[in-house]
Amino acid sequence: MKTSLAIPVTKVQKSKLAETDFSNLVFGKTISDHMFVADYKNGEWTDLRIVPYGPLQLNPSNAALHYGQSIFEGLKAYKNEAGEALIFRADANWKRMNESAVRMCMPEIPEEVFMEGLSQLIDLDRDWIPTAKGSSLYIRPYMFATDDYIGVKPSDTYKFIIFTCPVGNYYSKPVSVKVETKYTRATEGGTGSAKTAGNYAASLYPALQAQKAGYDQLLWTDGKTHQFIEESGTMNVMFKINGKIITAPVHSDTILKGITRDSVLKLAKDWGEEVEERFLSVSELKSAFENGTIEEAFGTGTAATIAHIRLIHIEGKDYELPEKPSDAFSHRVLAELDGIKYGTKEDPHGWVMKF
Ligand SMILES: *Cc1c(COP(=O)(O)O)cnc(C)c1O
Repeated sequence: MKTSLAIPVTKVQKSKLAETDFSNLVFGKTISDHMFVADYKNGEWTDLRIVPYGPLQLNPSNAALHYGQSIFEGLKAYKNEAGEALIFRADANWKRMNESAVRMCMPEIPEEVFMEGLSQLIDLDRDWIPTAKGSSLYIRPYMFATDDYIGVKPSDTYKFIIFTCPVGNYYSKPVSVKVETKYTRATEGGTGSAKTAGNYAASLYPALQAQKAGYDQLLWTDGKTHQFIEESGTMNVMFKINGKIITAPVHSDTILKGITRDSVLKLAKDWGEEVEERFLSVSELKSAFENGTIEEAFGTGTAATIAHIRLIHIEGKDYELPEKPSDAFSHRVLAELDGIKYGTKEDPHGWVMKF
């Protein structure tokens, strides 16, 4: 980092580390000792600070609670053998957060505020980065409106917070998914490409129906025709059919621009794999099962990195994916990404920040 912002730190009186059971981490339940906070008022980010993680004071008329001006990010820190902290592609999260901010009429965050807040927080709480295989420190930066005003308009004030959670493996088992053809996650012109709270609120009911029917997750289709696969709950999805890796393009505003997606595609291209960024139709997916050309299906996202899909429900029928050989693309790309993230493999794209 070029410059170093002086961020005042108030430390916890007693760390929760000693009482934390690192062998039984439930994703998102265990929160580390400190958080980074910044306030936006009079057109600038002020009062940067690191303080003990704890409750916020909000008024009942807080604008975010009523109209949802709220955006978030998700990234991870890892620890290498030498005990250094490694953060994967934080600059990409910073850029994407600002894209979400623009769409939701929220202020952008200067790179220095995001990066210094992040790295100084991780430095302070570095003992919270777990070291067991497959585990990491999940980092949650987010921003929300803080005006006490219930008129529908962009807020004038905001809070930007980063807190962290030690996590184990997210999806250890391959997942089953249901192709959703009734409900919609995102439409052209909507907010699907922004990581904004309302998108996830709207997905809860359809996801619950799928879970009641016995599936882990949904595979969303386009909102207009429901004929094309878009993505999953908090993951982009990829298929390997007839030797080609196929995933939905991100130029439309219905697909979240996943950083894992981008990383997987860059590695695939490095390795000379054939990649097609295009919409895959539900009927093409069905035929790929019927004629045996489907090789792999998997989700990509920060939480799981790669979530192997074992079964896809399409229009009333369950289709099982074939057994994957140990050198299948999704296995190789997961091993490569893990290697880069944990610092055991070379990082040719300069994705890792180490300190
Ligand atoms: C966060 C998210 C992803 C994955 O993005 P990553 O940067 O890879 O974590 C994919 N789809 C949706 C809807 C998401 O919210």
